Amino acid sequence: MALLRGNLHAHTTFSDGVRSPAALVAEYESRAYDFLAITDHDDHDNWVEPGYAQALARLKPQLLLFRGVELNFDGFAQHVGKVTGDQETLWVLNHPARYKLSVAQTVERIAFMRNAGWSLDAIEVTDTGLYRPIYDTEAIPLVKIATDDAHRPPHFGRAWVEVEAPRDRDKIIRAIRAGDVRLGFSES
Ligand SMILES: [Zn+2]
Repeated sequence: MALLRGNLHAHTTFSDGVRSPAALVAEYESRAYDFLAITDHDDHDNWVEPGYAQALARLKPQLLLFRGVELNFDGFAQHVGKVTGDQETLWVLNHPARYKLSVAQTVERIAFMRNAGWSLDAIEVTDTGLYRPIYDTEAIPLVKIATDDAHRPPHFGRAWVEVEAPRDRDKIIRAIRAGDVRLGFSES
């Protein structure tokens, strides 16, 4: 098995990112990433369906590409990353730092959302790639991940995950869900 580096949260011109899907893939291939999830906002004016899915399907990436979407919880502002493998799906509580949540509020929010029927596997301990260590605590009952939530420079490549797994979308998701993941940061 190889140690694979990837980013699980990034945006394109299908929402509020500045790179087309092909240019975003090229951005991460130039950084030697092994995998990338494109996770545009489904409630953005630039979002089109099925054009988004078709655009991602037309890509010919060298890296392993995950389809994804960034959803908002219905009820209050809380983005959730949905990263789609072949059979598996990874659900991520995105950037709690953006909402200025305390650890206790984060734990409460996770319980509330799960009660409302939302799956949650992991939580970002980053905000557009900057490390927010207060969320990197066992008090929060989710796997910790780092993403760069890239929209535009200088976000690309600021934070990532490393997973010891075969080059297979479902195996990567399962490894992350099991907590078998390392975090990387280029700055803090
Ligand atoms: Zn985002």
